[in-house]
Amino acid sequence: MNPLPAEKINKTLSNSGLQLAIYESTGRLMEKRRKALASPLAADFETWREQANRIKRHTIENLDHYLEQLEQNLTRNGGKLVWARDATEAADFILNLAKENNAFRIVKSKSMTTEEIDLNERLENHQLEVVETDLGEYIIQLARERPYHIVAPALHKTRYEVADLFTEKLGVEREVVIEKQTMIARARLREKFLSADIGITGANFLIADSGAVVIVENEGNARLSSSAPRIQIAVAGMEKLIPRAQDLATFLKVLGRSATGQPLTVYTSFLSGPRRAGEIDGPEQFYLVLVDNGRTRVLADRDKRQSLYCIRCGACLNHCPVYRKIGGHNYPWVYSGPIGAIISPQFHGVTEDPWLPYASSLCGACGEVCPVKIEIPKILLALREDVTKAKKREGGGGLERLAFRAWAFLMRHPKLFEIAGMAAPALISDGGGRWIRSLPRPLHVGPIARWLSQRDLPPPAERSFRQLWRARRRRS
Ligand code: SF4
Repeated sequence: MNPLPAEKINKTLSNSGLQLAIYESTGRLMEKRRKALASPLAADFETWREQANRIKRHTIENLDHYLEQLEQNLTRNGGKLVWARDATEAADFILNLAKENNAFRIVKSKSMTTEEIDLNERLENHQLEVVETDLGEYIIQLARERPYHIVAPALHKTRYEVADLFTEKLGVEREVVIEKQTMIARARLREKFLSADIGITGANFLIADSGAVVIVENEGNARLSSSAPRIQIAVAGMEKLIPRAQDLATFLKVLGRSATGQPLTVYTSFLSGPRRAGEIDGPEQFYLVLVDNGRTRVLADRDKRQSLYCIRCGACLNHCPVYRKIGGHNYPWVYSGPIGAIISPQFHGVTEDPWLPYASSLCGACGEVCPVKIEIPKILLALREDVTKAKKREGGGGLERLAFRAWAFLMRHPKLFEIAGMAAPALISDGGGRWIRSLPRPLHVGPIARWLSQRDLPPPAERSFRQLWRARRRRS
């Protein structure tokens, strides 16, 4: 059971440069989304969200059927579908394939699923060279960090930090102009693309009725990663499935707008098997590695399986007041923000990081912006219930239970409740009617004290609601 990483979080909160970087970057993404949705072209956005939710619900409810269909069509196209129960099985398959084909260099485009299974580290441990080719991913690979955000992995890095990083790791002169930094990365990556043996991509969607892997991106690196090397591997979670090619239109319309405020991302690639006779480019071998890694466990829970509808747009992160303060690296897994707070406990069990479902103010912004209408706040509450039950099973949470029992007792005894209400100001007021900054010593433990270490409580009202109510009734 991992405790809340309070010290690490406090470090983030007190780093004003980092706070500004997170706030400005997420703010920019929010503003772009707002503008995109205000356009007449997005007048039907709510209808698209409904459609996207319906399609995802239908697919997840019938996942077995669509997975079979995907495999049949992918095989007919000349590709091979590989089932991986976990990270080790996925990495083992790729390692063996690399060995059989004397492969050494791997170019990779952005993929949260491969981050989830630590694929780079696993392959590098076996002396393979893995090069991230998305600019943000390239930056964090050089920095040996993990993504800070689902869509913008290097969101927390300023151009000055990137300049220092490039100088240190690439030996180039310090360059702070972003366009020039891009050109430096481009020149480095071009030679890698041309000499890579294997290309690994993720997948934004898997289309069952055509067996196609769909990738959306803005830089063109995924297209190069999937067409230049002789072996192509797409690694994806099975929840990326959609039934038909025609369903894709709905998702493309909501994904770009929710993620970066674009009506459509710059490149949409359809990969459907190896190069065919007469084609001038494309891989000789094509594989789709479908990763479970805990997804079937999520699927088994009727109420929470909607978490699998996620299309990784990042909008819930940008709009989350908690993510915007604590950033991406204080979450325990690669998935951060509200989506991380609901899927990490489901993948790993609620007792691993029991504080995670509480990393939310329950303001509801995440649910309101989610393009596939995942009821994130509702799932957070259900997970909190699971945490409480798990703590009880393990004999913990006694203090909390006692507090709630006392509260319930008071609520059932109005006279006592009133007396307690009258006593409270004397107990916790600082006497001057000013904001309360801490509680008396005996109460100086647990979450309330932690809460007060960050913010102040308004002083209790001079007259309680009950007193005001009685006075009002006397007057009328
Ligand atoms: S939960 Fe919804 S808003 Fe958040 S990343 Fe997934 S699709 Fe986007």
